Amino acid sequence: VLLYRVGPEGFYAVAEEIGGEARVLYSDPFETLPGGWETGRSVALEESGLLAPVRPGKIVGIGRNYVEHADELGNPRPAEPVIFLKAPSSVIGPRTPVVLPPESERVEFEGEIAAVVRHRLRRASAEEAAAALLGVTAACDVTARDLQRRDPTFARGKSFDTFCPLGPAVRVLDGGAGLDDLTVVTRVDGAERQRGHTSRMTWPIAELVAWVSAIMTLEPGDVVLTGTPAGVGPLADGGRLEVEVSGVGVLENPVEAESS
Ligand code: ZN
Repeated sequence: VLLYRVGPEGFYAVAEEIGGEARVLYSDPFETLPGGWETGRSVALEESGLLAPVRPGKIVGIGRNYVEHADELGNPRPAEPVIFLKAPSSVIGPRTPVVLPPESERVEFEGEIAAVVRHRLRRASAEEAAAALLGVTAACDVTARDLQRRDPTFARGKSFDTFCPLGPAVRVLDGGAGLDDLTVVTRVDGAERQRGHTSRMTWPIAELVAWVSAIMTLEPGDVVLTGTPAGVGPLADGGRLEVEVSGVGVLENPVEAESS
């Protein structure tokens, strides 16, 4: 099941499959399991009318979770996950421009699988974490690489407005089934630049979410970005960014320089 949020009102709509008929969702997807969802009239999912499918209270990023990406940045493989926070105000939906700020000379794409929390988690086991997820969506952890390298923390380099495209839908995973068999592909101007599979992660998604929950309580709608595969590279004014995750669809965003 795919869960969309439709603009401008921000109501939820659900479809059985990508491109399938979508219906207005009357139930609260964070309160009711998909088997109990009540739906109404059919809606046309105009891509331009889609919003980010969730509005996270916090976004937790994970560094170097794919073996090959740690190697390409010349970083040692960490003994435990490296986490950082990305400002919730950086979230944008499909088709909304990623804006390159004048403060950075090198903004890079990081296509990622985003785990979306359904209900509150604290000090969870991996099994509890998997069961507490609403599902997954596609994300781009847009990063001002020069600022990330210059600053003692990642806060600035990760958190400019528009630096966290999410969508187009949450692929709802019943009890976490399918979490360990997902592919993420990033394309820039139509050319494939990254391809990763969950089997190449140092820490599986459920273990990451569980690990984070021991540090900070995860709330409904919170997002954990699960790291990026090898192949990161720069974004340029006029570019077209796409991140595709198995069963989620394609998250597409244009890229533009901030006008002064
Ligand atoms: Zn990342």
